[in-house]
Amino acid sequence: MDYFKDRWRRVQQIMHRDEVDAILLPPSSDFYYVTGLPTKPSERFTAFILLSEGAPTLILPQFELAGLGPDIRQTVSCRGWEETDDPFLLAARILGKANARVAVGSQMWTTFLLSLQERLVEAHWVSAADVMSTMRMTKDDREIHLLMEAQSLAGDALSALLERGFEGKTERQVAAHLTAIRLEVGLDPVGSAGIIGSGPNGASPHHMNSDRPIKKGDAVLVDFGGGHQGYRADITRTFHVGPATGEFTDVYRCVQAANEAAFSGIRPGVTCESVDRAGREVITAAGYGKYFTHRLGHGIGIDGHEEPYLVQGNKLMLQTNMTVTDEPGIYLPARFGVRIEDVIHVTSKGAERMTHFSRELHELD
Ligand code: ZN
Ligand code: ZN
Repeated sequence: MDYFKDRWRRVQQIMHRDEVDAILLPPSSDFYYVTGLPTKPSERFTAFILLSEGAPTLILPQFELAGLGPDIRQTVSCRGWEETDDPFLLAARILGKANARVAVGSQMWTTFLLSLQERLVEAHWVSAADVMSTMRMTKDDREIHLLMEAQSLAGDALSALLERGFEGKTERQVAAHLTAIRLEVGLDPVGSAGIIGSGPNGASPHHMNSDRPIKKGDAVLVDFGGGHQGYRADITRTFHVGPATGEFTDVYRCVQAANEAAFSGIRPGVTCESVDRAGREVITAAGYGKYFTHRLGHGIGIDGHEEPYLVQGNKLMLQTNMTVTDEPGIYLPARFGVRIEDVIHVTSKGAERMTHFSRELHELD
């Protein structure tokens, strides 16, 4: 529980700085970050409440109290509510002063927030997004370790997928294999099939897998993630079934060079947009600029996509122990797409890749 206590202390420091009296988080990745409890949002109100002083309170349905471990019950004030109770009134009492400035987690359902606002008409409601993302953007040693393990499991899963081959299978069949393999290697598919974008389908960055059979001469873009002890993996590689054409090779090498240029641009103190620019310049110089249609990358941690976003206009500076993806791509409509995605650890000296799967052009037999 020690690192959770440390997180509560740090949240309270930011609350003091921002003059926030209370923070109120619904079941979400923020909630997981401060409790270690995996929860799902439901119609029964559940919340983590932290005031500017003292230990936090957990409000939850009474029948769920029994499922909590002894650690959490000893350190957090747990307040169960019966089916006939008003949990919003309970929350209002815990928040205390009527005109409190309350920061609410960004995943709070509107229906709950409206009920809370009815009970606390004088309170000032602000978003907890800034407080929580400030906390979560930089990872501690344990988080870095889990993220490394998650990327390593994703690499294992991709190697196992390649052994089964793509030719003659549909995108959906390959995705089904990928799901089974992730479970085998110990990576939770977290309800996502991943993207298997074959031939022209690869030109859509967020393609929905189809029944298109994969054949010789196709490029195949494979992008997937997974969960490992609460932390996410994310990897993309693009393969070619049979010998690659000259144009595919050119595009591939360009994306590979952009991935490398962005990686070289990552270190503490540079802006997020400068990393996007470093990758984008390579693609633009090769004449493919208009086919790189998305940001260069995103933060990754408990959520697959979280702050900081490596995108034009984001002046936020990278700091040691942030973790981001480096995923440039070129998407040629109706032809093929290429993306290469790694997870990068921003270190005090610069950056290290957490993804070790080869980035070289790989022609499958
Ligand atoms: Zn991805
Ligand atoms: Zn990604």
